[in-house]
Amino acid sequence: MHITIIGAGIGGLTMALAAHHAGISCDVYESVPEIKPIGVGINILPHASRFLCESLGLEEELSKKGVLTKEAIFFNRFGQKIYAEPSGRLAGYAWPQFSIHRGDLQMVLLEAFLQRVGEEHLHLGLDCTKVDEKSGIAYFKKSRSEDLTETTVQADAVIACDGVHSVVRKQLHPLEGKPLYSGVNMWRGVTKWKPFLSEASMVRAGWLTHGKMVIYPIRNNIDGQGSQLINWVAELETPNHLERDWNKQGRLEDFIGAFEDWHFDWLDVPALIRGAESILEFPMIDQEPLPFWSRGRVTLLGDAAHPMYPRGSNGAGQSILDAQSLAKFLVQERDVETALKKYEDVRLEATGNVVRMNRINPPDAILREVWERSEDKPFNNIQDIISNEEMEAITQRYKTVAGYDKQTLAA
Ligand SMILES: Cc1cc2nc3c(=O)[nH]c(=O)nc-3n(C[C@H](O)[C@H](O)[C@H](O)COP(=O)(O)OP(=O)(O)OC[C@H]3O[C@@H](n4cnc5c(N)ncnc54)[C@H](O)[C@@H]3O)c2cc1C
Repeated sequence: MHITIIGAGIGGLTMALAAHHAGISCDVYESVPEIKPIGVGINILPHASRFLCESLGLEEELSKKGVLTKEAIFFNRFGQKIYAEPSGRLAGYAWPQFSIHRGDLQMVLLEAFLQRVGEEHLHLGLDCTKVDEKSGIAYFKKSRSEDLTETTVQADAVIACDGVHSVVRKQLHPLEGKPLYSGVNMWRGVTKWKPFLSEASMVRAGWLTHGKMVIYPIRNNIDGQGSQLINWVAELETPNHLERDWNKQGRLEDFIGAFEDWHFDWLDVPALIRGAESILEFPMIDQEPLPFWSRGRVTLLGDAAHPMYPRGSNGAGQSILDAQSLAKFLVQERDVETALKKYEDVRLEATGNVVRMNRINPPDAILREVWERSEDKPFNNIQDIISNEEMEAITQRYKTVAGYDKQTLAA
């Protein structure tokens, strides 16, 4: 069996490694002429790190590049601690949680691809323009070029991992409604900073109306003096937003006001934000889960299949789980079309549930509860506002839907 993979992002490269691991050959076609380590932070939770570590053998490389997350910790906007729980192996999982620069993750996957699959199977600078579902032919043209000469490749299956603006998704669903803006805009950056809290804490603080932050380290000792690269995301309710563009530059003055007085004894948040070399802006947008992903020899994977709010650390994770699942069905089923449908049967519903859960009850719903119940005021004792059991139940509910509760993983 030979498959065509469109897109060399996190999903596409993982799919290629998963296929190779399963004895399936592949070629990967990517728009950009050169893969550069672009993006900011991403978290890989134990459900996804299990496949990367156990099946693909990437634990050592990922551990060298990223940070092994020790805890998820929640604060209100006054810097008062609300709740904390251990992460990864410290939480009793057999696999770590990684907080990592997206570019580092992509480079680890790319290195493994080049070593295992081979450079001759990576084709850069080609835009997929359409696919033929019956024959498994994919059509390409040179990206960023006036040259409209068409290149075609044929394979047993075409896996479209072409991200949030997927052309294959548009081809399969020409009448799909518009992307849905949540009313929350995000500004993201990375800053060199001294370690804080456990030195591997994933902090979530505040709430969206007055400003919420997600802050965690993604690289250790970047200067030989123990500084870390800290990823931060500022989220704020605002009616204004731009189109989804991962490289869109943001402006400090559009959001810094909400965080100007966040001087905590464990972190000076406005100073952290101001310390970033550049700021990126991205709207919190998702799309309604689709009725189907697969037709004939073509299917969707990752953001192309299920764009979701980047809120529960599941964007990259679910694309990794898609790849794991699809490779399994391609090996199990003799017939490609049956394999693609079985993959869809399992993954479409699972990821649709995550899309919906991210809208209403993400793991940081703890912050919303405290914000509402405390009427956005400092508290004397958090237990007067919400019990530990209730907060544990909120995070547990999300883990179960996203598929990384211990019971589901053990099964
Ligand atoms: C430049 C960039 C920066 C990002 N930064 C972050 C971040 O900081 N934090 C975060 O949470 N998520 C980020 N993401 C998104 C994140 O990688 C995904 O949400 C998640 O990992 C799922 O991966 P994916 O492979 O489905 O999509 P992506 O990782 O987005 O990969 C899609 C790939 O397909 C390629 N492509 C698109 N259209 C075509 C086409 N027509 N033909 C061929 N190739 C095509 C793209 O160039 C890209 O390499 C970023 C994505 C990109 C592309």
